Amino acid sequence: MMSVSEAWIERGLTHVAHTYGRYPLVAAKGEGCWLTDIDGKKYLDFLAGVAVNNLGHCHPKVVKALQDQAAKLIHCSNFYHIPAQIELAEKICQHSFGDRVFFCNSGAEANEAAIKLARKYSSDCGHSDRFEIITAKASFHGRTLTTVTATGQEKMQAGFAPLMGGFRYVPFGAIDQLKTAISPATCAIMLEPVQGEGGIHVPPPGYFQAVRELCDQHGLLLILDEVQTGIGRTGRLFAYQHEEIEPDVMTLAKGLAGGPPIGAMVSREKFAAALGPGTHGSTFGGNPLAAAAGLAALTSIIEDGVIDNCTAMGRYLYSAMERLKAKYPFIVEVRGRGLMLGMELSIDGGDIVKTALDRGLLINCTVGKVLRFVPPLIVTTSEIDQMLDILDSIFAEI
Ligand SMILES: *Cc1c(COP(=O)(O)O)cnc(C)c1O
Repeated sequence: MMSVSEAWIERGLTHVAHTYGRYPLVAAKGEGCWLTDIDGKKYLDFLAGVAVNNLGHCHPKVVKALQDQAAKLIHCSNFYHIPAQIELAEKICQHSFGDRVFFCNSGAEANEAAIKLARKYSSDCGHSDRFEIITAKASFHGRTLTTVTATGQEKMQAGFAPLMGGFRYVPFGAIDQLKTAISPATCAIMLEPVQGEGGIHVPPPGYFQAVRELCDQHGLLLILDEVQTGIGRTGRLFAYQHEEIEPDVMTLAKGLAGGPPIGAMVSREKFAAALGPGTHGSTFGGNPLAAAAGLAALTSIIEDGVIDNCTAMGRYLYSAMERLKAKYPFIVEVRGRGLMLGMELSIDGGDIVKTALDRGLLINCTVGKVLRFVPPLIVTTSEIDQMLDILDSIFAEI
């Protein structure tokens, strides 16, 4: 007899695109840090929808905001003014360097908007020959044709040629190579404050200050992709706040609305002016439902002590991971910031992720051997301890 899960998995393979190598889990419901499958098995969720569910699953304030908004107005065009969108933009700007927010539906779209903004600003300044954007190797900026070009990982670009023109790649964290890459055609530098998909890479101290100086010297826009690092994930509301600098443009998505799809490009007024009426748009961007969830989620992150918890739990988890490293020689390095942590192994991480799933723990593995831990920011020490017990039991068998 097939389990209910097995039946769904078989059906899913028939008509749903095979763009993901999915694990055999059929998701049914979630609460806090726990996900339950359709057969009733519970999983401790340290992936959080890939750093989306920063408030855990079905946070009551997000659920309430969605229910209230859904009963009033679900969608209307951006031809009209949308109160929840206005309030969310105000809140993002109050708590960041930003003056204006363009709303869209995903991280890739937010980065597309930032790339268009940089080129348009340059062109408005009379420099249409300045269009090149420097990004980092091992970066990740999305899967559209332009953002996959911005992404400095050949494996994600393979087979999609011709790629967009106008991108150049440098190693992340190496200021001299960045300096050398700047040419008369450069208009912007686009970086993640901490690289996520590329394997959790934290920049060396002083790197972003030097990048900011280079941008100022050469008149380049500094675009920070905070799609993964933003909304409290690293222990500050935005990760640039660790660096004592401010970007010109920042992109947000994943955790911004506590689950529903949303994206945002935040910029200073000086640059935002380049995208005037008719230059860019999105049918769904900042729609009432997503914006209401965004407002509820962001307010809770800011007001409910979530970021302090992230910092405390991040330290707790990091130290525990360091202890595992001392115990198991195949752990090469532990790194990250806040609750965006990676454990680099000298062995393949794929089987560990599969065994963890069997034992009721959701984690993932990037670039083959970096286990990634991005739990909800509301995680408790007891949940971290349960996670560690499972991980330790798996490591002990290797
Ligand atoms: C996930 C991610 C993206 C892409 O976001 P989508 O919503 O999948 O388009 C872009 N940049 C970074 C840093 C990300 O982590």
